Amino acid sequence: MKKLCVIGAGAAGLAAAKNGLKLNCDVTVFEQSNAVGGTWVYTDEIGKDKYGLDVHSSMYKGLHTNLPKEIMSFPDFPIPYQEKSYILAEDMLAYLNLYADNFKLKEKIKFEHHVVRVRPLIDDTWEVLVRDLKIEKYLIYNFDLIFICNGHYHTPIIPFYEGKNFFKGKILHSHDYRCPDPFENETVLIIGAGPSGMDLANEISKKATRVTLSHHLPEPPKTQFKTNVDLKPDVVKLTEDGAAFADGTLNTFSVVFYCTGYKYTFPFLSFDSGITCDDNFVRPLYKHCININRPTLAFIGLPFYVCATQMFDLQARFCLTFMTDKKKIPSKTEMIEDSEKEMNKRWSKGFKKHQAHLMGCDQGKYYEDLSKTAEIEPLKPVIAKLHNFSSLRFLDDLTNFRQDIFRIIDDETFIKVQ
Ligand code: FAD
Repeated sequence: MKKLCVIGAGAAGLAAAKNGLKLNCDVTVFEQSNAVGGTWVYTDEIGKDKYGLDVHSSMYKGLHTNLPKEIMSFPDFPIPYQEKSYILAEDMLAYLNLYADNFKLKEKIKFEHHVVRVRPLIDDTWEVLVRDLKIEKYLIYNFDLIFICNGHYHTPIIPFYEGKNFFKGKILHSHDYRCPDPFENETVLIIGAGPSGMDLANEISKKATRVTLSHHLPEPPKTQFKTNVDLKPDVVKLTEDGAAFADGTLNTFSVVFYCTGYKYTFPFLSFDSGITCDDNFVRPLYKHCININRPTLAFIGLPFYVCATQMFDLQARFCLTFMTDKKKIPSKTEMIEDSEKEMNKRWSKGFKKHQAHLMGCDQGKYYEDLSKTAEIEPLKPVIAKLHNFSSLRFLDDLTNFRQDIFRIIDDETFIKVQ
């Protein structure tokens, strides 16, 4: 029986634990908080938590999902019926708890256990150093297999702008956004027009006097924002009371919000784990998950712009097929060749390092590759199709897209009923 360590009890960790148990692994999940759900657990806290750890969740009050629930469940466990497709974060969290209860996962989770270090031993097993937060003790465990499921929406990327130190207002990151109330009567500059920047512009404009969304999209977002929202190109520098933009204009602001994304970080991984992470490019990995240098360690959940929960389950089944020897893992040379081919395809499309794990429109091909390679149950093609459709709706009509209602008809087809 393989001893499997899962780091994190968010959606990825739950999928890893459930599938590990199904293949008769002896599963232990370490979770630093006292709950399952990761991102989906709302907290008022920002900065550090009561144990001095960085607050993990970037969840804000009243958040509705930005994907329809029809593609946000695990493949074998639907989200309980409700008419709406875009559900509240609380409902998503309740669903993850239901999943954990249904598959008896909570008894495998050591809550308030923070993983401090993961290092390989000479016999290809792993030593895991854990801080038990409740009794303030450090404990050492040994495992055959490691699944890293610590998420990647928790450590802000903070860009540098000339003049930043002179700016007299508040500078925040979307990680610290909780609700629009504190921005009543403020003039707010939002830097970045990814999903968080667009959503925050929409939310904060309900209270702020004026919101400016600075972006470098090739085309301005088509969304109709409220009339107090304007769009600007890139920020060139910050000033004492505002910012200068690439179009030569200057504006005053009382708050600057960086919606500039998150860093992938694995602070617990020792230098000899075989993994490096540079500008969100984690390598060397086979199929974006298995550590090629030490294939008894894998990451669940690195790819983004995906149907996350569906993919977590597929990646966990893919990795376990090889890691529990149900199928022989390719040689190191074969995995390196496969990985280089995959990455070269991406670089030739003009992808940058920070897009090394971006899937988007190609996610369907990735899912198919995983299931074919490991000879496991595939994801339904309709999942990727609906993701691609609803993502375009998000970009085109941010204010109304959440009123859409979808139904999945069969493995290939969905309809938009409203
Ligand atoms: P997380 O949910 O981040 O879980 C990681 C877990 O690991 C946490 O519980 C954390 O406490 C634990 N952990 C971390 N480090 C350690 C350690 N050293 N020791 C022990 N435990 C540790 N996705 C969608 O599909 N639809 C959406 O609508 C959507 N909306 C989003 C809105 C926001 C504001 C954000 C930030 C993300 C959103 N996402 C959405 C993405 C979402 O984060 C993923 O879909 C998914 O929930 C991530 O799951 P995860 O398990 O990979 O990571």
